Amino acid sequence: MNEIPSRYNPKDTEDKWYKLWEEKTLFAAKPNPVKKPFCIVIPPPNVTGILHMGHALNNTLQDILIRYHRMKGEESLWMPGTDHAGIATQNVVEKAMAKQGKKRQDLGREDFIQRVWQWREDYGSTIIRQLKKLGASCDWSRTRFTMDDDYSKAVLEVFVRLYEKGLIYRGSYIINWCPRCQTALSDEEAPHKELQGNLYYIKYPLKDNPKEFITVATTRPETMLGDTAVAVNPKDKRYKKLIGKTLILPLIEREIKIIKDPMVDMKFGTGAVKVTPAHDPNDYILGKKHGLDFINVMHPDARMNESSGKYKNMDRFKAREIILEDLQERGLLEKVEPHALSAGHCYRCHTIIEPYLSKQWFVKMKPLAEPALSAVKKGKIKFYPQRWTKVYLSWMENIQDWCISRQIWWGHRIPVYYCSKCREDGKSQIPNPKSQTGLERGVIVSRAKPKECPVCGSSDIYQDEDVLDTWFSSWLWPFATFYWPKPSEDLKYFYPTSTLVTAPEIIFFWVARMIMAGFEFIGKEPFRDVYIHGTVRDIEGKKMSKSLGNIIDPLEIIDEYGADALRFSIISITSQGQDVFLSKERFEQGRNFANKVWNASRFILMNLEEGLVNKDLCEFAKQEELDDTNRWILSRLYSVLKETEKNIQIYRFNEAVNALYGFFWHEFCDWYLEIIKADIKNNRNQVVMYKVLEKFLRALHPFMPFISEEVWHRLNPKGGPIMVSAWPHTQQQFIDKKLEKQMRSVFELVTQIRNLRGSIDIKPEQEIEVSVYAHSKEKESLIRNSSSLIINLARLKELRLLNKAIRPQATISDVIEDTDIFLHFTGLLDINKEQAKIRDKHSQLIKIKQAKEVRLKNRDFLKNAPAQIVEKERQGIEELAQAIRRLKKMLEELK
Ligand SMILES: [Zn+2]
Ligand SMILES: [Zn+2]
Repeated sequence: MNEIPSRYNPKDTEDKWYKLWEEKTLFAAKPNPVKKPFCIVIPPPNVTGILHMGHALNNTLQDILIRYHRMKGEESLWMPGTDHAGIATQNVVEKAMAKQGKKRQDLGREDFIQRVWQWREDYGSTIIRQLKKLGASCDWSRTRFTMDDDYSKAVLEVFVRLYEKGLIYRGSYIINWCPRCQTALSDEEAPHKELQGNLYYIKYPLKDNPKEFITVATTRPETMLGDTAVAVNPKDKRYKKLIGKTLILPLIEREIKIIKDPMVDMKFGTGAVKVTPAHDPNDYILGKKHGLDFINVMHPDARMNESSGKYKNMDRFKAREIILEDLQERGLLEKVEPHALSAGHCYRCHTIIEPYLSKQWFVKMKPLAEPALSAVKKGKIKFYPQRWTKVYLSWMENIQDWCISRQIWWGHRIPVYYCSKCREDGKSQIPNPKSQTGLERGVIVSRAKPKECPVCGSSDIYQDEDVLDTWFSSWLWPFATFYWPKPSEDLKYFYPTSTLVTAPEIIFFWVARMIMAGFEFIGKEPFRDVYIHGTVRDIEGKKMSKSLGNIIDPLEIIDEYGADALRFSIISITSQGQDVFLSKERFEQGRNFANKVWNASRFILMNLEEGLVNKDLCEFAKQEELDDTNRWILSRLYSVLKETEKNIQIYRFNEAVNALYGFFWHEFCDWYLEIIKADIKNNRNQVVMYKVLEKFLRALHPFMPFISEEVWHRLNPKGGPIMVSAWPHTQQQFIDKKLEKQMRSVFELVTQIRNLRGSIDIKPEQEIEVSVYAHSKEKESLIRNSSSLIINLARLKELRLLNKAIRPQATISDVIEDTDIFLHFTGLLDINKEQAKIRDKHSQLIKIKQAKEVRLKNRDFLKNAPAQIVEKERQGIEELAQAIRRLKKMLEELK
C-alpha cells in the first residue's frame, strides 16, 4: 500500500480528480432507453459573472442532486451554459472602452457588437472555470450560450409565433429615461439617491364652482401640464362628495375628472394626488386602469414640448420655476414644504432621470399564464418549500403584460422590419394591438430579413433598433438548450427536466416565465420540482456586497480550505428555504471534517489486512456471529444511509449531510473505532470497519466529491472512480432499532462516568471503581450484559451493580435518566485540596451568575439588546444555576 500523507491537502487531490473525471467524460449524458433520465438545467450565470457565495450554494445543491441520481443509476444530465446578460455585459464593455476615452457610438452598432463578442471570447468562460473548481459535474460538452446561433433561432421562432398568435404588440410604457444620454435605462442603471426637494401644494379649481378647490401635493410641478385626472382614496371622507366632479387644470385650462382609487395614499400630502400617466410609473398604472389620456409634455431632452402651451421648449427645471411663479400670481400655490425625496439618477452622467412614456414591445401574458397556473394548482409542478406556491400563484393571477424591448445594442435584435415606403404613406405607423393577424401595413415580422415588402414590393426595409429583454431568451432555457425548434432525441428524453434549483428573487423573472414557455411551445411543464434556496448573508444577516465590504469570496475559501470544505460547510448550515448566515470561520468545520475523514481513513488503511475486504457483507454476516458492537455500527450505518437518502429526496440537504457528519465523527470514530482498536486484526472487525468506511464514502461523495474519491482510490486502487459507483442502498435487515437504543444508553452511561471523573482531579490513566443503581430491570440487565464494554471504555477497575438507591460511602454521584452513578474516590485524590478547588469554583460561578442577573435587570439592556441575546443570557443563568447546584452537591459528598 502506498504511503499515506499524515495531513490531508485538498490541493493535492481536487484538481487531479476533476481532471480525471473530465478526461473519462464521466459528466456526459445521452438518451439511454434502459435508464431513467434525471436532468437539471443550470440557472445560467451571466457571462460577466464571477463566482460568489450565492452561486457556490446554488451550484453545490445542484451538484449534490446530480451526483446522487447518477449514483442511483439514472442517466443524469446537468445542462450548463451562460446568459448573454444584455445590459450587464454591454456595461462591462462600455466601461472598458470609457477608459480609452471611447463611447459605443464612436464604434457604431456593428463594430461595438463585434467588440462584445471579443470580450466574451477573452473573459466569458471565467465563471465556467470557477464552477469547475467547485466540483460541478456539468456535461460541459453541451455548454450553451443564450446568443449562440441555434439558441438565437429559438428566440426568433418564439417571437414570431407569439406575434402570429396576436400575443405580441407595440404599446406605450413608462421607462427610466436619461435626457442627457437620451437613452432608456434599466432600474439597475438608474440608482435612487436621496435629494432635498420641496412638496408644492397646488389648488385646482372646480369647474362648477371656480371658488372651490381641491389641493394636490407634488414634487415635480412641471408635470402638471400632463395631468389627466386627480385621484382620491374611496375611503377618504374629505373627498367623498367630490368624486366624479370636473376640475379645470390651471395654466393649461384643460378639464380633468376626480377619480377614486384604493392605490391612493390618504396620508400623503392632502390625500388628493394629481395623475400624470405619461410621466410617473404609478400614475401610468392608474391611467391604464381608468382609461385616462396619456399626455407627454416633454421632448426626449427634457425640454417641454408642444403640449405644454406657453412653456414649450423650456428646460424642465426652468419650466418648474416659471410655472410656480405663474401659480403664485394666480393665488393657486397654497404652500411649499421642504421634502426629502428619492430620485433615480443616470449611472453614467448622474442626471436625474425622467420617467418617460415611450413605445415598447409587449407580450400579452394572461393567455400564457393560464396553463402555468393550473399546472401548479394541480401539483404537476411542486415548490420546495411549499410556501412559494402561494407567492407564485398570486403573482400569476395578477400578471401584467411583459415589456420585452430594450434600447441597447447587445442582445437579440427584435425581428421586426419596417418598409420605408409604406410607412411614408402614413398608414399603420404602429401595429394595432388588437389585431390578431399581425399583418399591419409596413410592419413585417420575420425570422429572417425580408428581401422586399409583401405589400408594396419595395426593398427599402429596415429593422427595429431595439433588442429583446435578456429574460426573453432565458425563459426558453429548458428546451432551447436542446436545439428546439429542431427535432431532438435529447429533448424527448430529458424534457420535462427533473428539478430546478434557484434563488427566490428570480421566481417571477425566470421560473414563472419558463413554466409559461414550456406549456406554450412544448406543451409540457419544463420541470417537476422547484427548489428555492435562501439568500447567502453575512453572519449579522446583511446581504453580502462590495460596498459593505462583507463579501466572502468562494475562490479564496477553496484555496484556503478546499472545495469539499466549502461545500460541506455551506450545505450543513442551509436549512430548507432559510437564509444562510455565513462567516469565514464556518469553513473551519468543513476543513475539520475533511481532516477527520482523512485521519480515520488513514488509520483504517494502515490497519487493514489484505484479502478480507472483498467479502460480501451479507454472506459474511451470515457466516460469522457478529458481536453487538459490529451489529450496532452496521445498524447505524444503514439507518443513516436511509435518512440521508430520504432527506436528499425531499431537499433537506443540511439534514442529510449533518446525519453523515454525526454518524462518522461521533459514532464511527468516537465509539466504534475506539472499541475495536484493541482487537482490530479480528476478521469481523476488519470486514465491518472496511464496509462501513466504503459505504460511508459513497454516501459522502455527492457532498464532498474530492476527498471521497481520493480515499476511495486508496481503499480500492484497482477499482473505478467513486463518482460512478452505485449509491449504497439501504439493507433493511441490518437495522436493529432496539440495539441502537441500547448502545446509545450504554454510551451515555460511559460519557457520564467520564464527566464525573473529569469533575474531580483523577488522572485519565487511573482506573476507578464505579457503582451504579439502575431504576429498571431492563436497564440493569443491559448494564450487566455490557459491563465489559463499559469497563473498557470508562477505564474502570470495577463496575458494581447496586440493589438500592443509597449512595455508598466516599463516592461522588450523578444521575442520568434511569441510572444513578457513584464514583469511589478513596485513595484517588487529596480531599482537602479538591474541596478547596470546588469551593473556589463554586464562589466564582456565583459571582458570574450575579453579574448576569444584574445585567438582565438593566432596563437599557433589555430595551436595546436583540431578543435572542436576552434569551441567551437567561439560558446562561439557568446553566450556571445547574452547575452551582452540582458543585454544592459534590462538596457535600466529598467528605
Ligand atoms: Zn445620462
Ligand atoms: Zn411596403
